[in-house]
Amino acid sequence: MITRLVQDHVQTLAGKGELPAFVYDLAALREHAAEVKAALSAPGAPEIFYAAKANPDAPILQAVAPYMDGIEVASGGELAHVREALPDARLAFGGPGKTDDELRQALALDVERIHVESPYELSRLAEIAQAAEREVDILLRLNLAGDRSGVALAMSGPFGMDPELIESCTDILTASPHVRLRGIHAHLASGLDASAMVAQSTEILTWGRAWLDRIGHTGPREFNLGGGMAVDYSTPGTRFDWKQYGTDVAALAEPGETLRIEPGRSISVYAGWYITEVLDVKKAHGQWYAVLRGGTMHIRTPVTKQHNHPFDILAGNGDGPAAAGEPVTLVGQLCTPKDVFAREVPTDRVAVGDLVAFSMSGAYAWNISHHDFLMHPKPTHHFLGH
Ligand SMILES: *Cc1c(COP(=O)(O)O)cnc(C)c1O
Repeated sequence: MITRLVQDHVQTLAGKGELPAFVYDLAALREHAAEVKAALSAPGAPEIFYAAKANPDAPILQAVAPYMDGIEVASGGELAHVREALPDARLAFGGPGKTDDELRQALALDVERIHVESPYELSRLAEIAQAAEREVDILLRLNLAGDRSGVALAMSGPFGMDPELIESCTDILTASPHVRLRGIHAHLASGLDASAMVAQSTEILTWGRAWLDRIGHTGPREFNLGGGMAVDYSTPGTRFDWKQYGTDVAALAEPGETLRIEPGRSISVYAGWYITEVLDVKKAHGQWYAVLRGGTMHIRTPVTKQHNHPFDILAGNGDGPAAAGEPVTLVGQLCTPKDVFAREVPTDRVAVGDLVAFSMSGAYAWNISHHDFLMHPKPTHHFLGH
């Protein structure tokens, strides 16, 4: 799982006070992004915008940008940051609770599409666009109920508008010459495999086309079908089937339509490792524990997803305590029983001084974590393969 580039670099970090460390392989990231883009080459295949919230680090954005059609941002903060890191990128701005300041900022920073979340947001945007004498291009964010069983995360609740609420947008649009409705956006769930994703896309397109027809929408149409392509932490070797998805979703497009997707996790997750070292090994109430430097205040992913985070052990040569042939629970330095990276995982041997490399740490890892809890030193960050 660990790439050559990362493996070689790790040896230079150990014993230098550089652990824990987030290490990214940008060459592997570019290779993966290129494969994803190549799978989206059939006529009608969707444009791809990278969802910055998965990992907005500038080197990550700059590595993926050549293979992406644009970037999706979800706050004024992300918008300013991405505009600075990628001055020419095409941007889409989504997310609930956009403030007037953020909407003005979106106009000032030339956001190409705003994904509108509510009728109230739409009327505020219309006023702001009118005051600025600017045209603004939007997609209305749709929230379809449907059956999302089996998904990692269903985006029901406050996101976008259900079919009843979206109706209230039609009068606002009619009265707002500065706002151009381009189509529909929907990000309904995450953790879908390729065929489930295609089925969901069909659902969005069917609803969206009928609704746009009914309100008399004319001209080219856009459908942003969201992100959420599955990432399976229990089998780090398997990947979302981009080839199948690319072929099947391209076939859904009708003439005059532009499809777009905005994945995050499935793009950047494989390019990052959280690497640390074993500080202590002990047995308590019949369970073996390895206490690692750092903790889930650096990588909250296993806590939020309630999973065992995948890892490799790089054996050290210490003569401290060890657990051999026993299931081991890997914990961090936080004073809470929730600070668990992986629970009762079978291992050959874990010893004090070994290094542990948690793979699949390139998305929703460092940037979603509570860095200051307990005031341990922050990890170092390394971007390899520029
Ligand atoms: C988070 C999010 C995405 C990206 O989801 P992934 O699971 O990382 O692919 C895309 N669109 C919206 C609106 C989101 O909130």
